Amino acid sequence: MRRPLIAGNWKMNGSKADSVDLLNGILAGAAEIMRADIAVCPPFPYLQIAEQALGGSAVFWGAQDVSNETSGAFTGQVSAQMLADFGCHFVIVGHSERRLFNAESDDLVARKYAQAMAHGLTPILCVGETLEEREGGQTEAVVARQLDAVLQTSGVDGIAKGVIAYEPVWAIGTGVTATPAQAQDVHAFLRGRIAAQGQDVATRVRILYGGSMKPDNAQELIGQADIDGGLIGGAALKAADFLAICRAG
Ligand code: PGA
Repeated sequence: MRRPLIAGNWKMNGSKADSVDLLNGILAGAAEIMRADIAVCPPFPYLQIAEQALGGSAVFWGAQDVSNETSGAFTGQVSAQMLADFGCHFVIVGHSERRLFNAESDDLVARKYAQAMAHGLTPILCVGETLEEREGGQTEAVVARQLDAVLQTSGVDGIAKGVIAYEPVWAIGTGVTATPAQAQDVHAFLRGRIAAQGQDVATRVRILYGGSMKPDNAQELIGQADIDGGLIGGAALKAADFLAICRAG
């Protein structure tokens, strides 16, 4: 009953010309994909290109981050209203690279999530443990803490308006993918934690997997009971690979 979502996170890659090519490549194959929603999240400067290329198509677009503030003297930040202005449907919040390189706390991520929702965007909340945390038996505690910050700020109704992405940090960009069983365990844990506050929301909310998802492992991962699609980094930079993952959705 949950429609899969395959979202490409382009990160800080490519040029203007590359972005046009990638968007056109995705568009060329997207119409045949019936079973999954498709989204791309280019860097901020290329959102207008995405809007021009994808407007009127079935492919959604979004951003990789958003400010927790509404407007004003926040040099370098981009507001949810600005993203909405460019037709963004989604915005990624709390990606592990932002948590790590930009010192984003659970609380800041929760405020970004709320800000995105307040402007009609659908936040994609990333959660996930580091290798050290997994080896220390902390996986559930870490993802619970990251999820709870948003539950506390936006409530279970807020979770209903977003998407969750479980992205084990040790699997991102490393070529090491969580096994389908490892991923499924964490997805089921997250859904259970949401169910404790709202069974309906838990049944409906999409929980994506991210971390070295590729054409050759996508089907098995997405085939797990609680995995509802993917947040794709490296493999989202080639239209053929991204479309192959979309077809597995
Ligand atoms: P990856 O990145 O697919 O390159 O591992 C996923 C992500 O960081 O969202």
